[in-house]
Amino acid sequence: MTQGKKRTIADINRKLAAGEAVVMSASELCQEVRCGTDVQFDDLDVITSGTCGLMSGTYAVLSFQFSDPNRFVKASQIYFNGVEGYPGPCPNERIGIIDAIVYGTKHSRLDPHYGGGHLFKDIVRGAEIAVEVITDEGKTLRGGVTIDQMPHAVLHGSRHAFRNYVGFVNPGKDPIATIFCSSALPPNYGGATACGCGELNPIQKDPGLRTIGVGTRVMLNGGTGFVAGLGTRSSIERPCLSVVADMHTMNPDYMGGFQTSAGPEVIQTWAVPIPILDETVLRTAKILDEEIPLVITDIRGRAALTETTYAHLWLGTARRIGFDDEACSVFRSKCLDCPPALLCPSHAFTEKKDKIDGKICFSCGICAATCHGNCFVGEIGSVQVDGRRVPFIQRLSDRAKASAAADELKDKLLRQTFKLVEPVAKIELR
Ligand code: SF4
Ligand code: SF4
Repeated sequence: MTQGKKRTIADINRKLAAGEAVVMSASELCQEVRCGTDVQFDDLDVITSGTCGLMSGTYAVLSFQFSDPNRFVKASQIYFNGVEGYPGPCPNERIGIIDAIVYGTKHSRLDPHYGGGHLFKDIVRGAEIAVEVITDEGKTLRGGVTIDQMPHAVLHGSRHAFRNYVGFVNPGKDPIATIFCSSALPPNYGGATACGCGELNPIQKDPGLRTIGVGTRVMLNGGTGFVAGLGTRSSIERPCLSVVADMHTMNPDYMGGFQTSAGPEVIQTWAVPIPILDETVLRTAKILDEEIPLVITDIRGRAALTETTYAHLWLGTARRIGFDDEACSVFRSKCLDCPPALLCPSHAFTEKKDKIDGKICFSCGICAATCHGNCFVGEIGSVQVDGRRVPFIQRLSDRAKASAAADELKDKLLRQTFKLVEPVAKIELR
């Protein structure tokens, strides 16, 4: 049973309107706790949490006028920049309007390195999207569309914001292609990967979903979203959420495609306000990386091999990865290939080998782990597994972007451009 002091969301909204509320990002709160500050209930009204990483359960519902009425009866197939969508569910007979669902994990038939995640970013940044419709009469119609011409462009997350995740190693004898690494995961414990933003994660900050409920307003990719309920495969041990958000309001810098050795994946970014309603919420909000379990599993079936903590991934490691182009220009004549350019999941580092494009870099670190000349700057940590030290070779979550989103949400709360809302129903964990 909850003991001690309490406040309501209405109380906090009054304080925010009066300029009297104390809002901290989860990073700031954890920093205070690590420094030994005894943050009390009266010291804090809201924290802003965040997570950014691979969220495969992402799809978009798009609707727009594609042609004049009566040019075709119904669409039977549709492609956006070569990424297959699913016409419907509303059939739209003879009116020239397309309704379609597009999966974030679908690959383009034109480019194996392009998928739904890249498409969603391109839509949000306002690029013209090539549309190909095959009608039920077998005719092929081509056109283009931008987000400004789409009255309806809504992103849905069916499995998002999971409360951290697991790490992966490959104890076997052969490399394994996987969505959990941009290269095949090396054999014989040759490298680990891991997902999860640790102490910034929204559900980690509110594990009982005491403040996050159906209808909670969140920031998804910088735009306004609303929690719909639990996500698919959510469990008490590993909960996740579903969400709906208007793509017109999003910032493309928070989203994108992520090339893996098993094809393109999707990156999404959440920021969630956690109102400090009682002392239980304050206690869970203070949890640190070093207290959050990170289970390292065998990629061949996910059997747990060891349990460590998120401190191994995020404490004392680089948030951003740097590139020393001078060192590369000296060393590159010895390189038979350039793994960073081949493997960079977002194409932030390319065959030009000149710089990292910070706008699309997800700070995954595989460039630093694979460069022949050690020309990248950024330590990404290691774990002990079965008695050996295994270096992380890629992070599948971007803590720098999660932190930026949480900071942006804090700023919006203080400026009153983002309002806290009461959930319309509690989400029961099960
Ligand atoms: S592997 Fe490293 S040193 Fe070699 S060309 Fe690529 S970035 Fe430069
Ligand atoms: S950290 Fe390196 S490999 Fe990863 S996205 Fe950035 S530039 Fe690409």
